[in-house]
Amino acid sequence: MSRLRERNESAWLLPAGPGSNLRLRADMSRYGDDDEVDIVIVGCGAGGATLLQRLSRAGWRAVALDAGPFWEPEKDWVSDEAGSHHLYWTEPRVIGGNDPVPLGSNNSGRGVGGSMVHFAGYTPRFHPSDFHTLSADGVGADWPLDYGELRPFYEDIEAELPVSGEHWPWGDPHSYPHRPHPVSGNGELFLRGANACGVTAKVGPVAIANGRFGNRPHCIYRGFCLQGCKVNAKASPLITHVPDALAHGAEIRPNSMATRIVLDERTGLATGVEYVQGALAGFSAPVWWPWRATRSKHPGCC
Ligand SMILES: Cc1cc2nc3c(=O)[nH]c(=O)nc-3n(C[C@H](O)[C@H](O)[C@H](O)COP(=O)(O)OP(=O)(O)OC[C@H]3O[C@@H](n4cnc5c(N)ncnc54)[C@H](O)[C@@H]3O)c2cc1C
Ligand code: SF4
Repeated sequence: MSRLRERNESAWLLPAGPGSNLRLRADMSRYGDDDEVDIVIVGCGAGGATLLQRLSRAGWRAVALDAGPFWEPEKDWVSDEAGSHHLYWTEPRVIGGNDPVPLGSNNSGRGVGGSMVHFAGYTPRFHPSDFHTLSADGVGADWPLDYGELRPFYEDIEAELPVSGEHWPWGDPHSYPHRPHPVSGNGELFLRGANACGVTAKVGPVAIANGRFGNRPHCIYRGFCLQGCKVNAKASPLITHVPDALAHGAEIRPNSMATRIVLDERTGLATGVEYVQGALAGFSAPVWWPWRATRSKHPGCC
């Protein structure tokens, strides 16, 4: 198997053409409530799904809970803004603690794949100076790590999505795995205008494969990336990391909203997760089903 196919296995695990690999979902691991697992990941979006894939490949018994559904792009999404509101999580949410933070108006995603299901697809790297704006410009905060430490991770994820874009000459000059997409009429006009003014302008990087990729079809430029890409050309974990995670033994529990991380009172370490199933799904009455992922071998990783 080629290195590219091994790394991007999900693209070959999807069916040829639009749709989802329903067989993979039907056959995924299903742990019992008394089974001990190595990790429970809360939220199967950009971060959670990638972690799930990595740990499943490493042989961990991993379960991910997601508050929203396990989307089927072809069936659940439409090429229409008004019909896409079920993708967005706009209900008021509050992150608790001494200084609670209200969320909700930011239009984040709900469901396996997370916000990337309907993200715009733009995938720039941070500029190296973005990591130390406080020391350099006296604004914001300095990061505890620098660009050089993140660079290999940028390279990995750009290959895994994969990203298409023009050679980037600024900051740390770099290229992308796929060549840039053609620009539209207004983009063409902008590029000509910038050129006439002596301003260097580049076609930005996007997580949309340029051409067919594995079984993923090419982009058809229909322009509904923000409503979920029905054809699977735009990357989201639902098609880039989740199929591979399932193939490596992961379980994903959709419509399962975590309500509490169970802590060991003596050590303060996480031992499990309680969740409500179906509460946000809208198509079934809320079922209270507290479930413990018993004694995580890797407490604190929830
Ligand atoms: C409209 C829009 C456009 C965007 N465009 C871009 C862009 O062009 N480029 C870019 O780089 N970024 C973009 N982003 C931002 C990007 O999508 C997010 O930064 C990224 O997805 C965040 O990853 P995450 O893993 O933190 O959260 P998410 O991907 O949002 O995943 C979180 C998941 O956790 C689940 N969840 C939350 N709480 C619970 C709970 N208690 N129990 C169980 N599950 C739970 C949610 O259902 C969700 O699936 C955009 C975002 C939006 C909303
Ligand atoms: S086919 Fe292309 S333009 Fe259409 S939603 Fe998918 S990525 Fe976006």
